Amino acid sequence: MCIFCNIAKSPDSLIYEDELVVAFKDIRPIVPVHILVIPKKHIASINELPDGEEGDLIAGRLINVAKKIAQKEGIAENGYKLLIRTGNHGGQEVQHIHLHLLGGGRMKEGIGLAS
Ligand code: 5GP
Ligand code: ZN
Repeated sequence: MCIFCNIAKSPDSLIYEDELVVAFKDIRPIVPVHILVIPKKHIASINELPDGEEGDLIAGRLINVAKKIAQKEGIAENGYKLLIRTGNHGGQEVQHIHLHLLGGGRMKEGIGLAS
């Protein structure tokens, strides 16, 4: 069973829920505000995001919900980083799409090939 599908079905662990997506705190936060926004539907990665309206709706909703949570958390004005790792080279560990909302301080660059 997918761990993120399980979390999506556990109302107590959610900080946001609508008909398409849910959000919850990352279990190992790397910055002061570290929240994951995921589709309720099990989609393994961006590679499996459906083409067309359904995928457009889910992808758009993930970002708009991250925006709303950033406002609620008080980090919108100073800024934040949104991250979706995809596949092996992208460093994805959990095989269910998740958008990281990262904020609460100035972010490191952290982009480039591994050494
Ligand atoms: P990825 O590396 O796939 O982009 O990110 C996976 C993220 O999921 C990591 O930041 C990790 O801390 C988080 N994570 C893994 N297992 C759990 C869990 O059971 N609960 C929560 N809330 N976060 C998890
Ligand atoms: Zn899942």
